[in-house]
Amino acid sequence: MIRNIGLDVEPPKSICEDHHCPFHGTDPVRIRGRIFTGIIENDKMANSVIVRRDYLKYSRKFNRYERAKSHIPAHNPPCIDAKKDDLVRIAECRPISKTVSFVVVEKL
Ligand SMILES: [Zn+2]
Repeated sequence: MIRNIGLDVEPPKSICEDHHCPFHGTDPVRIRGRIFTGIIENDKMANSVIVRRDYLKYSRKFNRYERAKSHIPAHNPPCIDAKKDDLVRIAECRPISKTVSFVVVEKL
């Protein structure tokens, strides 16, 4: 059974047993809050990834935009199984652990 997570995303083809999975979990994380796209910088953790988000930040001193980046830890359910250098969409959810409150919802 695949749950509708309330976002316009392609649901994953495979099925997983992860209880935190937003699509198949028994204790699913519900999507609310912000949605970002970014590139995976680190996939060495079990079921979590670090996503790099590049954005432009206005600098008042120089009256122009400067490039900035941030690192966001996100849960990576086994049915999506995103790897390093993948472009992914992540969505905010309740805190899953001390640092993780985003979940990967789609590979782009
Ligand atoms: Zn799943």
